[in-house]
Amino acid sequence: MHYISTRGQAPALSFEEAVLTGLATDGGLYVPENIPQFSREQIAAWAGLPYNELAFEVIKPFVDGEIEDADLKDIIDRSYQTFRHSAVAPLVQLENNLWVMELFHGPTLAFKDFALQFLGNLFDHLLEKRGQKVVVMGATSGDTGSAAIEGCKRCKNIDIFILHPHNRVSDVQRRQMTSILEPNVHNIALEGNFDDCQNMVKASFADQSFLPEDRQLAAVNSINWARIMAQVVYYFHAALSLGGPHRAVSFSVPTGNFGDIFAGYIAKQMGLPIEQLVIATNANDVLHRCISNNDFSKQPLVHSLSPSMDIMISSNFERLLFDLYNRDGEAIRQLMSDFNNGQASMEETALAKARELFSSYRCDDDRMVEVIAREYDNSDYLLDPHTATGVDAARACRRGTDVPMVCLSTAHPAKFPEAVRKAGYPQDPPLPHHMADLFERKERYTVKDNDLKTIQEFVARNL
Ligand SMILES: *Cc1c(COP(=O)(O)O)cnc(C)c1O
Repeated sequence: MHYISTRGQAPALSFEEAVLTGLATDGGLYVPENIPQFSREQIAAWAGLPYNELAFEVIKPFVDGEIEDADLKDIIDRSYQTFRHSAVAPLVQLENNLWVMELFHGPTLAFKDFALQFLGNLFDHLLEKRGQKVVVMGATSGDTGSAAIEGCKRCKNIDIFILHPHNRVSDVQRRQMTSILEPNVHNIALEGNFDDCQNMVKASFADQSFLPEDRQLAAVNSINWARIMAQVVYYFHAALSLGGPHRAVSFSVPTGNFGDIFAGYIAKQMGLPIEQLVIATNANDVLHRCISNNDFSKQPLVHSLSPSMDIMISSNFERLLFDLYNRDGEAIRQLMSDFNNGQASMEETALAKARELFSSYRCDDDRMVEVIAREYDNSDYLLDPHTATGVDAARACRRGTDVPMVCLSTAHPAKFPEAVRKAGYPQDPPLPHHMADLFERKERYTVKDNDLKTIQEFVARNL
């Protein structure tokens, strides 16, 4: 299987190369040249498989023999053994034909563990085979950093450096990163904001001469194809639990970078009968504006109570646009250049296709807080703010109640106490018991000035 760039000018790569490369040299994102297809009979035969065995079936055609089956199985098994629920992605029913899929039973209590537990093990396997070591460098405003650290902490061939803005992430989020004491894990608290952190990382990727000759940087952000691929699995898992593939299922997905819901779109392309895919946004609503008004323009960032969806540019949307434009890399180059200049819109045929595939909805903070409060009143179920956005979108956008609607629950409510308290919950929601001692754990991190040279020296010195 070859992987090609959405902008048409970078070389096609193998699976292994695409995973290790991240962003394409032409600025595009890698996608498989062909999407693997499953028949209804094949999918039906997977009913009742445990999560890891299903993951193997869904992931295998993307890897296309580049990793031995036994090794791939082992990578997958180890990735989902760290989850604290034996169903890995359990479904909870809220009302008739409305379900929540809990994706927060991994080590950092957010759905990013599904992709990053797998990606860490996958990287380590590929690097071991090549006799190579890499440096993972990333910036985080919260969830991604801790999931990346948990994913990489046991990897012999990876040193990981995560920058977070000093005093600007929540205590839970900071401690989830800084209480990991493995020697290959380095947390840098930068005297600056999230953009400063991101700029450090970007500049370091652009010029890697600060690293020793035998090292290069690797990216674990959501443009990495392996992350999308791992997320496709739980769409199959939910549908099979609810009568699929003999019956169609719908999904509502709290969306930021468009990675999670793009995995749902891929599941549909692979042959899983999906009726509706609902894009749920908070006040940062570029995707909703795009689908509802063909307004693909940048707007200033709004800081919301669902911070993991506070995104101005949904990078994975480019992968969808590539398909909507019949995989015309030149057209995507032009469209993304217009967007980066502030304002773009889709061709009519592309827009019509997008509207056939997706519904969209915007839920602001006031509304989201009401949804948490009402759900807790009605069913004693406590939603996190991202999930609440998705539940509201599901109710607003579903066409009837005959088709099961699954809302992806992307985080545990204890990670976002501010929103939960605003909804009238009388205390900070308790952490699950395996994390109850988080505030007693020893922390290790280094505060650094907002200066590129200082950061790069720190990285080079700690390899
Ligand atoms: C990252 C994240 C999202 C957004 O997911 P995308 O793949 O970026 O669309 C939603 N909720 C939570 C809790 C997250 O951490």
